[in-house]
Amino acid sequence: MQFRAPKGTTDILSDIATKWQYLERKATELFKAYGYKPIITPIFENTEVFQRGIGSSTDIVQKEMYTFEDKGGRSLTLRPEGTAPVIRAYIERNMNQLPQPVKLYYMGPMFRYERPQAGRYRQFWQMGVEAIGSDDPAIDAESILLLMNYFKAVGLKELILYINSMGCESDRPKYIQVLREYAGENRKRLCRDCQKRIELNPLRLFDCKDESCLVVMGDAPKLIDYLDEGCRRHFGTVKHYLEMQGMTYIIKPELVRGLDYYTKTTFEIVSPLLGAQNAIGGGGRYDRLVEEFGGPPTPGMGFALGTERLAIAIEEEGVSIPTEDKNDVFIAVADDVVKPAAINLLYALRSRSVGTDVDYMGRSLKAQLRAASRRGFRYTVFLGSQELEIGIVAIRDMESGEQQEVKLSELVQYFSGIMERV
Ligand code: AMP
Repeated sequence: MQFRAPKGTTDILSDIATKWQYLERKATELFKAYGYKPIITPIFENTEVFQRGIGSSTDIVQKEMYTFEDKGGRSLTLRPEGTAPVIRAYIERNMNQLPQPVKLYYMGPMFRYERPQAGRYRQFWQMGVEAIGSDDPAIDAESILLLMNYFKAVGLKELILYINSMGCESDRPKYIQVLREYAGENRKRLCRDCQKRIELNPLRLFDCKDESCLVVMGDAPKLIDYLDEGCRRHFGTVKHYLEMQGMTYIIKPELVRGLDYYTKTTFEIVSPLLGAQNAIGGGGRYDRLVEEFGGPPTPGMGFALGTERLAIAIEEEGVSIPTEDKNDVFIAVADDVVKPAAINLLYALRSRSVGTDVDYMGRSLKAQLRAASRRGFRYTVFLGSQELEIGIVAIRDMESGEQQEVKLSELVQYFSGIMERV
């Protein structure tokens, strides 16, 4: 029997994992430059955290959660997203006592029982930020600018930024009533799920991908036309801050996103080069979420991006990413007699952060050279009994083929000098 990875999951093999590490490192640099600090929350939470946080009538909670009972009879869920756990931690760890806003970032796997397709998986990776405690529209703009600037920093050029405002509690009920009426009039043209949504949670009508529902919802009244004065002003200021930084955007009134917690600003960034799953990141403001979790009224704003989709977009745009492999020096060993000396040299070089390796497969000298070249080593050092005896070794530059002799006693210094310069 041959085992296979579970449906919707994949192994991130070394070449891709190395690129991901680069993407994560760049994200960390930029997130920190914008004042965000890391947080690591558990991969599973009490199921209620997501039911409450994301909303029990959303697709995620209704259909997509990996929920299980543990041996103690507790209902637990593998996290489908990162915001609800961060908010749970903010309240549980009394982060409202810290200077506000509390700005946090996270990176890690998320789990959703979705139908797998290109760019959509059951285990996928997200990087995200949350700024909790401020309702300043400058924070909304900061979140959007951070995500756009990150994508640009890793080399993406073809991006579309969609923004919308979903208003707040004061303008929602008025709008929901209008939307219900409209959807009710068009009930027959909506799919069965959407017919249920009319009563249950009419905003979710905008999530449906059914052709006929899309047509109906395309003509539906839009929340953005029902904003009260405060929300309109907030959105205007967000747009102004974006424009000040030269950021172009498209207002997309249907952008309600698949989670119930959003208020005011929402946004999504799309790569037109991707197929059906073209959203590489998105987020928005969630001013009611902390309260919903039993905390004091506290506004918040954040985003999440999908690492797999980002990597696909990078591939599609043909952006090259440094591999960051540390294949500096290969020590080719002529025979077993010199192996102990080679091993000593190996650790001496590694201790100076020179990426060094030897052959562990008993290869001939010729085969060792071939393997070193395939693995992309920059230099090969030849070590045989004669070299040991006279204390001088030959170093080959694997790219140019040039050879040079260096004293064995100066080798470590020689390579650590080169590596410091690059
Ligand atoms: P969301 O939490 O739904 O707003 O998703 C944020 C980002 O995560 C999306 O823009 C995608 O890039 C990524 N994402 C969401 N769901 C999946 C999935 N099933 N597979 C891969 N990436 C996903």
